[in-house]
Amino acid sequence: MKIVLNDPLFVSAQPIMQRLESHGYEAYFVGGCVRDTLLGQPIHDIDIATSARPEEIEAIFHLTIDIGKEHGTIIVVENRTHYEITTFRTEGNYSDFRHPDYVDFVRDLREDTLRRDFTINALAFDRKGQLYDYHQGISDLKLKAIRAVGVPYERFTEDALRIVRAIRFASQLGFEIEPNTYEAIQNLGVLLPKIAIERIRVELTKFFLGPYFEQYAQLLVNSKISRHIGLLKELPVKEALDFMVKTMNHCPIEDERLAWFLFTKGLGLDEPTLRLFLRQWTHSNQFIQEVTWLHQLYDILLERPLTNWDVYYYPIELIEMLETILKPQFQQIIGNARLLYQQLPVHNKKQIVTNGKDLLTLLGLTKGNAQVGQLLQQVEFAIVMNELANDRKAIEAFIHQQLIKER
Ligand code: ATP
Ligand code: MG
Repeated sequence: MKIVLNDPLFVSAQPIMQRLESHGYEAYFVGGCVRDTLLGQPIHDIDIATSARPEEIEAIFHLTIDIGKEHGTIIVVENRTHYEITTFRTEGNYSDFRHPDYVDFVRDLREDTLRRDFTINALAFDRKGQLYDYHQGISDLKLKAIRAVGVPYERFTEDALRIVRAIRFASQLGFEIEPNTYEAIQNLGVLLPKIAIERIRVELTKFFLGPYFEQYAQLLVNSKISRHIGLLKELPVKEALDFMVKTMNHCPIEDERLAWFLFTKGLGLDEPTLRLFLRQWTHSNQFIQEVTWLHQLYDILLERPLTNWDVYYYPIELIEMLETILKPQFQQIIGNARLLYQQLPVHNKKQIVTNGKDLLTLLGLTKGNAQVGQLLQQVEFAIVMNELANDRKAIEAFIHQQLIKER
């Protein structure tokens, strides 16, 4: 089979493939870009596999970045684009169930495909679009089947992350996991505690964001995966997944923060537990903050309409994210968030005409203190809520009033 590779990502990689070939090496497009092209779906990145060894790749390209040379992966930078190039390899034993004890570079594409996880991921194109399919990947694409390359038990024992990858591809592609592969998954979840939580997080997030998540959500529980992930063991995962599906209401989740908000909301975590939980999942501080805001916003929306202060304080982007998913429930309440936002008298502190320094002068102080901070907050709140004009005179009067009140 031959396919025209007209996606700009393939086109732009042609010079790299040609350069490798002109030095006598083989080079192929592999992995997701091949699979997705054959499915008629857009591709988002490309992976290249080659017979050239890492040092040989370095020798023929001007700019390269070593991101795992011992495993055979080098980034080639051309026209400011990064191309990930991996040397054909086989993998040794996985005595720690995580990393192969050694990788052996090989000169042959077929051997390289033997180490890949699923048949649909073991397909390759050469630069002219000629397809190489050593494991009936095309047949499985047609069957919509996720099938391990070779013996499933061996493949999942080598690297248990593949277990989570299987359910993520089900959710991403809408494919069924082939029965033998599924049986191995159900029996080998016990190996998951050996896998770094960060790697599991990446796959789990892709599972949540899959266009077919709704259909495959309960795979996380039914495959027995969740009971072997320490961070989920004691939690009501089934209920959380049901909550996610119910709340997303047939529209796929398109944002990572929204996915983790829905999941943790469904798990029923309170705020301190939520923060700890997300931290244990190795999410960044920024991510944790934004998910926490989504929780707060959601609780507000259940209670009352949004105020000026809400749309000022919380990122409007997060409010609108909830809007897309919660529309039927909260339409009336959220509907005017953007309008409220546009009509705010100020959008940040800097736009307030009186700043901290002005306030110190006004109060005859040389140094700030808690009271000054509090007054500034009161001014900010009153202006945002349209209770006070953003005007020096008005603010001055407001401050005097506050001081009198406090006496
Ligand atoms: P995506 O569209 O999410 O990028 P992908 O199939 O390209 O999907 P990657 O994680 O980018 O997935 O991996 C690229 C390829 O490397 C896979 O298609 C697969 O052939 C191989 N691969 C990745 N991780 C593993 C693994 N843990 N075990 C075996 N092969 C793997
Ligand atoms: Mg990929």
